[in-house]
Amino acid sequence: MEMEGKPQVSITLLSGGTGTPKLLLGVRELLDDKMLTIIGNTGDDDIFFGLLVSPDIDSLIYLFSNQLDLEKFWGVEDETYNTLQQLGLMKEPTWFHLGDKDLALHLTRNRLLSSGYTLTEAINEICIKLEITAKIVPMTDEPVKTTMLNEKNERLSFQEYTVKFREQIPVKAVHYEGSEKAKATKEAINAIKNANVIILGPSNPITSVGPMLALSEIKNALIKSKAKVIAVSPLDSGKAFSGPAVRLLKELGYEASSLGIANLYKDFLDVLVISSNDSKLSESIQDLGIKVICSNISLKTKTEQINLAKIILKEVGIIF
Ligand code: GDP
Repeated sequence: MEMEGKPQVSITLLSGGTGTPKLLLGVRELLDDKMLTIIGNTGDDDIFFGLLVSPDIDSLIYLFSNQLDLEKFWGVEDETYNTLQQLGLMKEPTWFHLGDKDLALHLTRNRLLSSGYTLTEAINEICIKLEITAKIVPMTDEPVKTTMLNEKNERLSFQEYTVKFREQIPVKAVHYEGSEKAKATKEAINAIKNANVIILGPSNPITSVGPMLALSEIKNALIKSKAKVIAVSPLDSGKAFSGPAVRLLKELGYEASSLGIANLYKDFLDVLVISSNDSKLSESIQDLGIKVICSNISLKTKTEQINLAKIILKEVGIIF
């Protein structure tokens, strides 16, 4: 797969807004952005002040245009919140932190959507404007909304759950509203069909990968794909690096470990990278027909991001 020192392959990643973007920081040090297609979760999308916000896609746009705030891992670096403050003065709800710079993206996307662009086309146009050469494609152009059912049987939006309630409330069920009817984008399906390699970076299996797999076309394309599918566990020793993955897995009756992750992805997964601390789970994961690689799976530092990217790209034969 190597030509004149430069690998010539198509790599497709499925991404939420935090874990896979961290891995991408390592991948970008080793490969050209042009080789990458990232299918983004849109289950977290919501409307604020009349503007569609697409948190996972937006983080990918900021990452590939080198603007991502690498401390928070969302939004633009050196952000300010003057507009939000002003909205507060006008007694508007301000629990969702829309930054001044971030607004430019939402305003542009809104203009494009209002003039008839699909979400895929609008994101593509924004990527062209920002000189992004990776392909960032939404899982669907249609509304699919991840909602959480609380103990009072009220359905909360994902943003209400994570931002307003800071993930601190019990959840009885998670729904991917609209997923039965929504069609996956042809760009996402083609990216899976044409990939030499498919990578699921570490992601919350319920709120980031779940909405994508809820689209039957995406799940079936993964099952049918002849490309090697490799994932990184988002859990180490039964703990998440960030976010509510463990809490949600337990509340929904799944095993909160790398074995639980393997079980969720076993229909299409070839290789799972798990923490060396979890090596005792290897045999049970291998029994599901999944190869296991034990490694350091922390992606905090640049060195860790590059090292894990190297392990993955070597395993799938893209670098040697
Ligand atoms: P969201 O879209 O922001 O909710 O986040 P994602 O689904 O993209 O990523 C969240 C998941 O990434 C969590 O389950 C974390 O445990 C995992 N994660 C975050 N940082 C790391 C890391 O350094 N290493 C690994 N392996 N997983 C991580």
